[in-house]
Amino acid sequence: MDLGTERQKKPFRDGSRDQRIIDLTLAGDRAALRGFSRKVGTDIAAVRARAKRLGLTPGFLKNCRLAGTRPKMRACLRCDDRFLSRGAHNRMCRRCARRA
Ligand SMILES: [Zn+2]
Repeated sequence: MDLGTERQKKPFRDGSRDQRIIDLTLAGDRAALRGFSRKVGTDIAAVRARAKRLGLTPGFLKNCRLAGTRPKMRACLRCDDRFLSRGAHNRMCRRCARRA
């Protein structure tokens, strides 16, 4: 078993730290991201990988900055799946929004 990989996965397993990752990534605060990754016992690469997995692409972040919205993990109103919401107005996952 690869203990290193196992240790890196653990900090984000329950999703409770995702909002902090979202906020710091949106702010582009590298020092805070480094401090955060140290605090949760992982490294910046693992935090970046998590941010990418959540859907925090450069394009997505740019749209949120321009619109002044705060992205957040939300449960879709239609299918209840967790998805990365662009802001308070965005309550349906992409799959459901397309069908709406
Ligand atoms: Zn949905």
